[in-house]
Amino acid sequence: MSWWSDFSGFVRENEPMAKHTWLAMGGRSELYAEPPTVDDLARLVKAAGQAAVPIRILGGGSNILVRDEGVSGLVIHLTGEAFEQISITDQSVTAGAGAKLGHLVSQSTAAGLSGLETLVGIPGTVGGALRGNASAQGGDLGQCTQDATVMTDQGDIIKRPRSELVFSYGKSNLDELVILSGTFLLEPAAAEEISRRMQQIWIVKKKEQPMAHQSYARMFTDPRGMDAGELIDQAGLKGTRIGAAEISDRDANYMITDRGATSDDVLKLINLVRSRVLDRADIELELELEVW
Ligand SMILES: Cc1cc2nc3c(=O)[nH]c(=O)nc-3n(C[C@H](O)[C@H](O)[C@H](O)COP(=O)(O)OP(=O)(O)OC[C@H]3O[C@@H](n4cnc5c(N)ncnc54)[C@H](O)[C@@H]3O)c2cc1C
Repeated sequence: MSWWSDFSGFVRENEPMAKHTWLAMGGRSELYAEPPTVDDLARLVKAAGQAAVPIRILGGGSNILVRDEGVSGLVIHLTGEAFEQISITDQSVTAGAGAKLGHLVSQSTAAGLSGLETLVGIPGTVGGALRGNASAQGGDLGQCTQDATVMTDQGDIIKRPRSELVFSYGKSNLDELVILSGTFLLEPAAAEEISRRMQQIWIVKKKEQPMAHQSYARMFTDPRGMDAGELIDQAGLKGTRIGAAEISDRDANYMITDRGATSDDVLKLINLVRSRVLDRADIELELELEVW
C-alpha cells in the first residue's frame, strides 16, 4: 500500500501540470492533490511529511514554469469552496488563499473599499499574491495585510499578526508551507471613484501586455531602480525567438508563447536574455517566474 492510499479520493498520480498553470506547458506531477477541507489538507501534509515526500503548493499557477520532465513529489492545489471564501466586515476583508486575487479586488471595490485597486489584472490567487507580495503601480498587497493564517509542515495552524509580517518587492516572510487566508484592512471610498481609478490602471496594463497571444508571462524582477524590460530592449532582444517562445515587442520583459512551445524553449530564451544583459549592462537579472 502506498503512503497516500487513505487519500485516494483526492490524490492522483501523473497529473498534467499544463492544465493548472498559466503558461500551460511542462510535464506531469508525480502526485497531485485537491484536498476538499482544511482538515484533509492537514492530514495529507502530516502523512506526506512522515513519508518524506516533498510538497509544493500551487495557487493559480501564474508565476510557475514547470519543466518538461515534470515535478517529483506532491503538488497540493488549494481549490474549491473551503479555500475560496471572501467575507467583508466593515473595512476588513478576509479571503481564502485559493480565492482569485481578481475576485478579492472586485468584491472590495463593489463594497466601496479602496486599497487593492492597483492590483487589478494580476492573475493568480490570494495565497500566491501574499507569498510573493504581488504589486503594481506603487501598490502592493502587503501594505493593507492585517494578518494571515498559515499551516506549518506539521499540519499546525497559526495566525500571523501584522506585527510579525515583513513584505518587500516580490517577497514576504510568509514562508510556512501553506498560506490559508489573509485579512486586509481597507479604506472606505466611493465605489465609482475606485472603479474609475481601476479602469485607468487597466488601460496602462493592456498597453504593456501582449494580451492577444496564446500565453505570456513576465520573466524577471526589476533590478533596483531599473526596468528589466528596458534592459532587455537595450540588449536588442525584442522579438527574439527560440522554438515557439518569443520576447514581446511591446514590453521586452514579457515572453510570449505560441502553440507547441515547450518549457525547454522558454528556459533557453531566459538563459539567452540573462547572458546578453549581463554582457551588455553587467547586470544579473533575477527570475520572477519560479521554475518547478
Ligand atoms: C500576465 C501576467 C501579469 C502579471 N503581472 C503581475 C504584476 O503586475 N505584479 C505582480 O506582482 N505579479 C504579476 N504577475 C505574476 C503573478 O501573477 C503573481 O506572482 C501572482 O501573485 C502569483 O499567484 P498564483 O496564485 O498564480 O501563484 P502560483 O504561480 O501558483 O505560485 C507562486 C508561488 O507562490 C506559492 N504559493 C501559491 N499559493 C500558495 C499558498 N496558498 N500557500 C503557500 N504558497 C503558495 C507557490 O508555491 C509558488 O512558490 C503576472 C503574471 C502574469 C502571467
